[in-house]
Parts: sequence; C-alpha cells; structure tokens
Amino acid sequence: MQPRDLSAHTEYVPGRGIEEVARDLGLDPADLVKLSSNENPHGASPAAIDAVRGAAEDISVYPKAAHTDLTARLAEKWDLGTEQVWVGPGADGAIDYLSRAMLDPEDPVLVPEPGFSYYGMSARYHHGDVHAYELSKADGFAMTADAVLDAYDGERIVFVTSPHNPTGATMAHEEIEALLSGVDDDSLVVVDEAYGEFADVDSAAGLLDSSDNLAVLRTFSKAYGLAGLRIGYALVPSAWGDAYAKVSTPFAASEAALRAALAALDDDEHVEKSVSSAEWAREHIHEHLDAPTFASEANFVLCEVGDGSAVAEAAQGEGVIIRDCTSFGLPGCVRISCGTEAETRRAVETLNEVLAELGATA
Ligand SMILES: *Cc1c(COP(=O)(O)O)cnc(C)c1O
Repeated sequence: MQPRDLSAHTEYVPGRGIEEVARDLGLDPADLVKLSSNENPHGASPAAIDAVRGAAEDISVYPKAAHTDLTARLAEKWDLGTEQVWVGPGADGAIDYLSRAMLDPEDPVLVPEPGFSYYGMSARYHHGDVHAYELSKADGFAMTADAVLDAYDGERIVFVTSPHNPTGATMAHEEIEALLSGVDDDSLVVVDEAYGEFADVDSAAGLLDSSDNLAVLRTFSKAYGLAGLRIGYALVPSAWGDAYAKVSTPFAASEAALRAALAALDDDEHVEKSVSSAEWAREHIHEHLDAPTFASEANFVLCEVGDGSAVAEAAQGEGVIIRDCTSFGLPGCVRISCGTEAETRRAVETLNEVLAELGATA
C-alpha cells in the first residue's frame, strides 16, 4: 500500500545541526558555531532548566494541572479569557490546530513568499490549498495591507509573519488593522509573532477584543530559549475559543515543557538579556558585514550575498553554520542568527573572508 497522494506536499528544511555538520566535516562540535535556526545563544532561563529537572519525577503521569496553570498564566499575561489561549507543541503545533479548526477540504490559505514554509505544509496536511502573496525585495520586503490584499481572493486563512522570517521586517499596527478590515468576515488573519519579543512594536493581541477573525501566534522557542521542548500557543477571539477542545491533540504539551514555560515566564531578566544581546548582534552584522543587509527586528539578519548556497557552504567549511535562504525562495541570500558576542564576531569575520574569496574567484 501507499500513503495518500503527497506529491504536492513539501518537506520542512531545517537549519543544519552542529552534530550533523561536525560529523560531515570531521570537526569537533565544540569548534562549530551554529547560527542557522534562530535559537537563543544564551540557552534557556536557569529557572526553566530547574523546572525540567523537577518535572522528571512526574513524567509517568499525563500532564493536566500544568496545562491549566500555563493557560491561566498566559491568559493573565495577555489579559484574555483562558479559552482564548491555545497551547500546542510549538507555534507549529498551534498552526495545525488553526488549520484543523478552519479548513474544509480544498479551502485555500494565503501565505507570504518568501516565507515560513510550515503554513502551507499544515494547510496541505489538512486537505487545503495554498496561494501566495509576494513580498518584494526591491521594497525591502515591506509588509503592507495592500501587498496582501492585492493577492487576496477570499482565502480562509491569511498568514502574516511579524517580525517576518527570513526578512526581519515588521508589519505596522495600522497595516494589520487595514488588513483585518480588508478581508471577508470568514477569513482568519493569523499574525505569527514567533519573534515578537525582539521587536519594538505592539503585539496584534491587543486587537483580539475588537476582531473575531484574528489569531496571534507566539512561541517559547526563540526569546525564551525552549526550542527543544516544543511549546508555543495561539491567542484567539473568545467567540470560537472553545473549538480548541475539539481540535487539539490530547495533552498537547509535555509536563516538562509546560513547567519550563511557566518558569520562563517569571524570568524577565533572561528575556531582557536575550533581547538586548540580539539588538547588539543585529547592529554588529549591519555595520561590519561586507554585504548588503536588511533591517531586522528579530534575532537574525538577512544578508544579500550573491550565491547563498555557495556562501553558506564555504562558511560551514570554516565551522560557521548559517542559513542558505534558497528554500525560502531567496537564493541570493543567507540568514545569520544573532549569536553571543563572540559567536557573532566570528561569524562576521568568517563570512567576510568567504565573501572576499568567492568574489575573487567569481
Ligand atoms: C520558529 C518559528 C515558528 C515556530 O516555532 P515553534 O518552535 O514551532 O514554536 C513559527 N513561525 C516562525 C516564522 C518561526 O520562525
């Protein structure tokens, strides 16, 4: 037998891991710098690590109280009702819950191009179709309501990423409001704020009181440093918040992830340090990289290097792993995640050498 027809489906292309690359190159993993997956270079909050150790005692039991506690804590943080907080295994898991709740077979979704591939992947799993709107490099990938609405044709879900991955651009609050008023009442606008903590703009969550066709995604994977635990959430309007119980996988998040998230939420200092370190790294890359860069409000910088895959491969040979953006639809670019000060300096120096060498042979 065979699975259903998956020929239109795509595979997620993750940034390469340290162990994998070290094995390929015959190098010690400790000598490599990985700036390809927008992870927190300072790790998780020490309080979250303690919470995971504490959770080890209870892993034989299905997580229930911790889920209730995290939902309540997030509802309080965002000043929303508990039914408006949809916790999932990463923001990716929350995207699946939105697909399940919204899509009938063949319903289309509208996604940014370039953009995060999982929106379309999730729609296809759920028997939906995928349409795209273009963000233009010539405009610095500006995200306006018009850029989305020009392509919009009644799609059931419209995805916006702010700050955007991989460009780093944000969509202004007024533009999100204009988008919400420009789409039909039964089109859901999803604002993915996976990098929201790094940006100096208000969360779209403030619009949930006035719109019942908005959802906001947030994650603990980036600023909170919990990517390995898989925990994130969607914030949704109260009007249909109760659909969660009908679409979520039972016990959506693990006991360890829930407890770590609760602890991480109480450690403001760790988030502040992570955000200010990313600000420093962005500046350093903008100022010192010998290639054009795009303004970013996230924990990475998109850089125009000519041949992204050649540059990423050469940098990797020197022990610096960055993200070739070919799979995002930007073959001329690489994305460098913000590392610690030492990692970021090394990445920029290495890339400058690589750019000089490739330029000399081109
Ligand atoms: C990293 C990322 C996510 C989700 O991350 P999870 O680890 O699944 O929480 C969602 N959207 C974008 C744009 C991302 O870059």
